[in-house]
Amino acid sequence: MQWHADQSLPLLAVSRAQGAWLYGPDGQRYLDGISSWWTNLFGHSHPHIVQALRDQLDTLDHVMLAGFTHEPVVALSEKLSALTGGRLGHAFYASDGASATEIALKMSLHYWRNRGRPGKNEFICFAGSYHGETVGALAVTDVPLFRDAYAPMVRGAHVLPSPASSAPLHALDALTVFLEAHHARIAALIIEPRVQCAGGFAMHDASWLSAVRALCDVYEVHLIADEIAVGCGRTGTFFACEQSLDADGEGWPDFICLSKGITGGTLPLSLVLSRPDIYAAFLDDTMARGFLHSHSYTGNPLACRAALATLELFDALDILARNRVWGDRFTDALAPLAAHASVRRFRRAGMIWAADIDTPHADFSRRYYRAALARELLLRPIGNTLYFMPPYILDPDQTALLAERALAALDAALA
Ligand SMILES: *Cc1c(COP(=O)(O)O)cnc(C)c1O
Repeated sequence: MQWHADQSLPLLAVSRAQGAWLYGPDGQRYLDGISSWWTNLFGHSHPHIVQALRDQLDTLDHVMLAGFTHEPVVALSEKLSALTGGRLGHAFYASDGASATEIALKMSLHYWRNRGRPGKNEFICFAGSYHGETVGALAVTDVPLFRDAYAPMVRGAHVLPSPASSAPLHALDALTVFLEAHHARIAALIIEPRVQCAGGFAMHDASWLSAVRALCDVYEVHLIADEIAVGCGRTGTFFACEQSLDADGEGWPDFICLSKGITGGTLPLSLVLSRPDIYAAFLDDTMARGFLHSHSYTGNPLACRAALATLELFDALDILARNRVWGDRFTDALAPLAAHASVRRFRRAGMIWAADIDTPHADFSRRYYRAALARELLLRPIGNTLYFMPPYILDPDQTALLAERALAALDAALA
């Protein structure tokens, strides 16, 4: 994720971090309003996660997972399965989000091959989608800046209109028409439920997700929910896709990808959850029918322990309920910013707030970033879209400070 890379900005040295604050070597501090690229859910160095990691480091640092198992990976897999009511009862581990995307794509394609339908080997993504930047993940990423230079390496997917790029009903029609014609070639459709974050914080209703799920059922296409950014409570429920379930709790995707927040921003870990029938398609004595994605650090015990400690905090602090209350307060605190003459389409999904800024400055993002740093804030707009994805632990003073200074930074950046 290098979309903010900008050679004209000096590198900021960070020597330590505590709670929501990053500290520089010379005593500067920055309130981390974007949770260090959406990873750091409970602030930096949360004592519960730190203690869990210390204990784990004293017990088992790492062991290969092929032919071995260990308590943190078993406990984490069971906990994640329980969070889906057992519907996505199997977990496959990697270390970064892009690999989780690729694992889900590979597993879907290989599933259809094992089921005697090798022709189902193409993928659908939506306009403005972001699923990571390795070569396989770029195939389903519709952000030209990241893809164009590497296009000759990439086997592109089918990019269909999203509810943000066209009217929702038109997007649904386009998907229906496409699936009707091409479903025999399509293994899976990948979606960022509720919010396309890196693509500019386009938000859609949960009803769109339900409609997509229904179409995937009709046309026998896997649904992959990329919850790398929107999972872990970010949109109000633990998994964003829970918002699209029916009254019986049905309508889960076939795969869920998680990463970013799952270790509370301490260690790299990603995972793909899948349905039991998908897992079952790979149970075979022949190696070539098994799922093939070897990774040296798969299921690393330290990362799994950090994830368990993170999930424990969700329960211990009743985070989803707490976030609802805090989120409404923060929305109130942002009211003056939302009413600013240059702000368009102020929007919110759970713990994500975004607004498009009407500005003549082509370098608005950089100007805002600088203006925010000068006010002790870490906020980095994507293009002209200013957004907030704060850690879940801001106290009332920090909440007020973030909202007030974000507004002051806006006036400074527009001046
Ligand atoms: C960040 C992100 C990824 C890629 O994760 P990395 O760990 O940076 O590879 C994939 N999908 C979404 C939705 C993301 O936000």
